[in-house]
Amino acid sequence: MPELPEVETIRRSLQPLLAGRVIKSILVRETRLRRPVNVQRLRKWIQGHAITALNRRGKYLLWEMDNGSRLLIHLGMSGRLGYCAGQEAMEPHTHVCLCLDNGAQVRYRDPRRFGCVQAVAPNERCGLLQGLGPEPLSVEFTADYLYDGLRGSRRSVKAALMDSRIVVGVGNIYANEALFHCGIAPQRPAGALSREEWKRVTESVIRVLRQAIRKGGTTLNDFRNGLGEPGFFQADLAVYDQENRPCRRCGRPIRRMVLQGRSAFYCPACQK
Ligand SMILES: [Zn+2]
Repeated sequence: MPELPEVETIRRSLQPLLAGRVIKSILVRETRLRRPVNVQRLRKWIQGHAITALNRRGKYLLWEMDNGSRLLIHLGMSGRLGYCAGQEAMEPHTHVCLCLDNGAQVRYRDPRRFGCVQAVAPNERCGLLQGLGPEPLSVEFTADYLYDGLRGSRRSVKAALMDSRIVVGVGNIYANEALFHCGIAPQRPAGALSREEWKRVTESVIRVLRQAIRKGGTTLNDFRNGLGEPGFFQADLAVYDQENRPCRRCGRPIRRMVLQGRSAFYCPACQK
């Protein structure tokens, strides 16, 4: 599932190609995504308008249009957004094609259909964007914010980091990696961490996300950027999906356990 570095990688790969382009037409081949695609709204607000910028909020891509509306895209579990010249054959599971004024297309593919493609009208309050926590690469994401907000919380520090109401964009890969690099055990109750430990956690989350963006994201199964290129952060994974492999720091085997229904990977010796 794409997390913040993957969505940011797609944004950076598409932004220079899309800024200033007009979306001439929109072809919707399948409306049954997690939220049904509202074709009329796409035609009304997005079609015929120019893209001024590509932004990101958490794992949402926000295409800013010159009429003040926005095209909101979430990739769900398996979504891909690919730029192509326009003549290529349509791959299976291509649900939406955005045809640009230069003949190119941006195609949204999503075998599992957990994603979302929708128009947000100017000044419309979009429910999907309400209640989201701060961006982890913003000044709001601090040790004090987490320490104060999670005081008394009994759920695990890993589950807290993966909660988009607390901080956006951190999923299973980067929560596991960040906790390894700061030496904090994933099952520790969030409310039991000291301010100093939260400082280590925030610094580690920021470092891991920045490094993953530099490497173009993590390609485990099928992640590709907007130009079809894979990421390279998978070579840097210290614990995620590394069960029984030797810890990079101490050589003991990496362990896996299930926390709140998700796999936690950790070194029992290096993480306390
Ligand atoms: Zn270790």
